[in-house]
Amino acid sequence: MLSTLSGEAFPVERCGEFAANGESLEVFIPDIEKARIRKGRFLWERFRDFLPFDGFDAEISLGEGATPLIAAPASLKAYCSVESLSLKNETANPTWSFKDRGTLTCIAMSKAMNEDLAATVSTGNMGHSLAAYGAKAGMQVLVFVPEYTPAEKIAAMAIHGAEIFRVRTKDYAGMKKAVLALAEKQGLRVVSGNGPFRVEGYKLTAFEIFEQTRGRLPDYIAVPTSACGHIRGLFKGFVELQKAGLIGDLPKMIVVQAENCSPIVTAFRQKKREIIPFYKGYTVAEAISGGDPPGGNEILDKAYRFAWLAETVSEEEILASQAALARSGYFVEAAAATGSGAVKKLCAAGSIMPSDKVLLMLTGTGLKDAGTLKRHSLNVREITPQALEAEMRKIIYNAGERSGETIY
Ligand SMILES: *Cc1c(COP(=O)(O)O)cnc(C)c1O
Repeated sequence: MLSTLSGEAFPVERCGEFAANGESLEVFIPDIEKARIRKGRFLWERFRDFLPFDGFDAEISLGEGATPLIAAPASLKAYCSVESLSLKNETANPTWSFKDRGTLTCIAMSKAMNEDLAATVSTGNMGHSLAAYGAKAGMQVLVFVPEYTPAEKIAAMAIHGAEIFRVRTKDYAGMKKAVLALAEKQGLRVVSGNGPFRVEGYKLTAFEIFEQTRGRLPDYIAVPTSACGHIRGLFKGFVELQKAGLIGDLPKMIVVQAENCSPIVTAFRQKKREIIPFYKGYTVAEAISGGDPPGGNEILDKAYRFAWLAETVSEEEILASQAALARSGYFVEAAAATGSGAVKKLCAAGSIMPSDKVLLMLTGTGLKDAGTLKRHSLNVREITPQALEAEMRKIIYNAGERSGETIY
């Protein structure tokens, strides 16, 4: 059964994403207090008491999830000024972003409803993920993207055979509204980044973190936020674990947005009850450029009720964080790098203590946006084969000098 947060019930077949009053629809798990972790090979088997489906058709999975949760290297801990910093590397998913977890549940739902067409509005990663899963499930996929979506993401959708519409606009929030209204008129179901079944897929990440930390959850989890599905799903998972008596305190979420497109964080700072839409809110972190997310008010409300943190990062801070992560071994896209920049600022402001346990969600890979790389100074030297020997000698000599060894 689906319900709104205020309790209005909807049958699953309704399968919309929002109620007429704009409230998010949510899957209601009956008897959650009695839910237990079962034996099973897959996460969804072990947590089946917490899920609204009996299982997944293995045919539609691309092997998502089971991503590494690793302690951050010393260089990154120093960058953020946090002692206990860990990383959840969601770039290890089949299409290199966390979106795959929710696409699995979306496609499962589409299949259950006998649909043969799957459609989404996306800045890139959702479209890419849906295109891949749709290809495996034998469904036709339709993706609407704004003109600033990186060419790499568009090519990735296209090679899976998706039908792509690159809508000539820089106003993603406005375009999304227009496409959704058109689709509604035509009877086309368009999934967004924040639907009830997508959220159930993201919820599994919370269970995975619970298992990987053996229940010793972080104090804070930094989540780059746009359509709000990811942060909502993660938190729903922890709330359900708490209701089942499996965890004590809930981790606090950190809502992270780009300064240029921060409808939730700006409202949070001004203590508003409703988000402040950002139209044409372009940022180098294009994967989090949702300027007017339906469902944003719910996240704002949760941020107040559960004493979450919220922070923005400027364009320069995003690029610096992307470089810091890469210099620590993690090549993520700009949106995925925002968490480390936000945590750094929150530590400097004293909102996070150096002793707090912090987890960064690395939401997507760096290689799907080559344009952003041009904004970094990347050290590549052009050289002739003849000049190579002398250069090599110099580098080896200098390295030896640094380590105090004598060469020659
Ligand atoms: C989609 C996406 C986000 C934002 O997630 P939402 O569920 O839309 O809030 C963050 N980072 C990356 C890389 C994404 O693709």
